[in-house]
Amino acid sequence: MGLQGKKTSKWFQRGKQSLVGGVSSGFRYWGEDNTLVIDHGEGAYLWDMDGKRYIDFHCGFGPVILGHGEPSVVQAVAEAAAGGTVYAIPHRLEIEAAEALKKALPWVEYLRFGNTGTEVTMHSIRLARAFTGRDVVLKFEGQYHGVHDTVMFSTAGAPAGSLGSRYSPTLWASSSGIPDYTRAGTRALPFNDLDLVRRLFKRMGHQIAAIIVEPILGNCFAIMPEPAFLEGLREVCDEYETILIFDEVKTGFRIGLGGAQEYFGVTPDLATYAKSMGNAFPVAAIAGRGEVIQAWAKGGIGQAGTYNANSVGMAAVKATIAQLKTGRPYRRIEKAGKALMAGFARICAEQGVTAHLLGLPAMFGLVFSEKPPREFRDSVNHDEELYTRLTHAMIRRGVLPVDDALEPWFLCAALSDEDVATTLAVFEESLKEAKH
Ligand code: PMP
Repeated sequence: MGLQGKKTSKWFQRGKQSLVGGVSSGFRYWGEDNTLVIDHGEGAYLWDMDGKRYIDFHCGFGPVILGHGEPSVVQAVAEAAAGGTVYAIPHRLEIEAAEALKKALPWVEYLRFGNTGTEVTMHSIRLARAFTGRDVVLKFEGQYHGVHDTVMFSTAGAPAGSLGSRYSPTLWASSSGIPDYTRAGTRALPFNDLDLVRRLFKRMGHQIAAIIVEPILGNCFAIMPEPAFLEGLREVCDEYETILIFDEVKTGFRIGLGGAQEYFGVTPDLATYAKSMGNAFPVAAIAGRGEVIQAWAKGGIGQAGTYNANSVGMAAVKATIAQLKTGRPYRRIEKAGKALMAGFARICAEQGVTAHLLGLPAMFGLVFSEKPPREFRDSVNHDEELYTRLTHAMIRRGVLPVDDALEPWFLCAALSDEDVATTLAVFEESLKEAKH
């Protein structure tokens, strides 16, 4: 039995007549009977085409931080849209949004806006390459930075057990259509292993333009960096004059107003933000400090976009940050997330299932494995089938995590105590069913 109700199934079939495979992003295809079609959302909930309500822990892969259709953001966006959306000339809301961002992120000296995570990680890498005059970028296995060629290697879709020796990993192209010559510009290493990073830098540090890192593995169970790992990356970058880029597309404005930079107390040269920054309106930014971010102003480095700093995105940023900086949304998420993490751990223990809760209350991973993973390669040992049975049983009961076992649970501030209690009850029942 699939996850679709009758009407949802009909809509999916209808969508397939015009959308390739019925979706606008490959990650949204959950199978013929399992791909949902949503009618609308409100607060912590989504409704599908059968009118079935879900408590939403997918949160659009992270950007829904305040809740779906949060009224103050929607109102600000509507007002902005009424004044036109694209001028392709600097404007008031853009300057105000940039100021709000800088206030939220005290380490940031300058920034530019974009629209998506892909675009800003791409531009941050271009900037780092242009600034250093070097070509190679180091990323970490299991991390995702969007769909451009340089970073589409060894993502969480790779075969974790076949990435070669950890001393000289095989670079696995995460898609067909990526030209072989792009391989020369990318290296991927296991996360949380500073010795391997130092080893690589000893060999070729002066060719490495940037290290790009998700400070928490937001696309792989929300694995946390081990103590001194991020600090070590900072040191290596300083030693070799390599640019350190934090990809905060998932962590930014989600784990706290200051994101991972604030949480871990490590400061990159550049950071990319998107998702929670505008409560799920399409807006993104590349922020930085020092000479590197200012290099754009000196010319010669391509960076552009018709929709950059459109008024809707800018209004969303201002209104979202205004809510987030009160601290209330974070307190709500922290309380709900802690209760869920502790509750899931307790229920698993009671039912004799070995499980690990990773990450932070705002984005946490649930892993069925003997030992907690510390890097993507460890994912070969997790029980993906149990996870899928569990999440499908939960979705049938109206609680919606992403059905991909590596993807964290995302929380929004609209979750009530009752939603948390319902989720725990559904988890308990669903795990009983999924175990067999
Ligand atoms: N970086 C990270 C860490 C992400 O998680 C994502 C998307 N999940 C991206 C970049 C790409 O963002 P977008 O989908 O907006 O292009």
